[in-house]
Amino acid sequence: MHYHQYYPVDVINGPGTRATLFVSGCEHQCPGCYNQSTWRLDGGKPFDEAMSDRVIADLNDTRIKRRGLSLSGGDPLHPANVPQVLALVRRVRAECPGKDIWCWTGYLLGELSPAQRELVALLDVLVDGKFEKGLADPGLLWRGSSNQVIHDLNAWREGGERITCLVCS
Ligand code: SF4
Repeated sequence: MHYHQYYPVDVINGPGTRATLFVSGCEHQCPGCYNQSTWRLDGGKPFDEAMSDRVIADLNDTRIKRRGLSLSGGDPLHPANVPQVLALVRRVRAECPGKDIWCWTGYLLGELSPAQRELVALLDVLVDGKFEKGLADPGLLWRGSSNQVIHDLNAWREGGERITCLVCS
């Protein structure tokens, strides 16, 4: 996997102070996408073990307390990215207790493959759906267009089929 950008301190992509990783690779090609430079899987830099170590160290850095990790792109759930994103998420769960994990994807929660679902099972929040230019609204929090849904996965798991939008509810 390659990554396009890494922000060790970020207050834009998700709640609180966070570390944010923008991975490379997206197959959705949404018209009006602001991140077209992230579409290529081989763009950016390789995400190696040293980068994984850095993310873990930043999340555990007590000088700047981060609430959690945000995964964006590109698409972290691109099938080619899933194995390494899953490995990173597993490390965060094992080595960074108390940190939440948010993920943005162009895929829909209800249409994920078994491999994507295995990864999503370890997340706290999934913001899903392609960017729809006609539904774009700069006033929306943490999403670009109104078709995209912020799924509180913990509430969803507790409530069976219930899907909660953190903004609407
Ligand atoms: S899913 Fe996101 S990164 Fe991919 S094309 Fe759509 S807006 Fe761009």
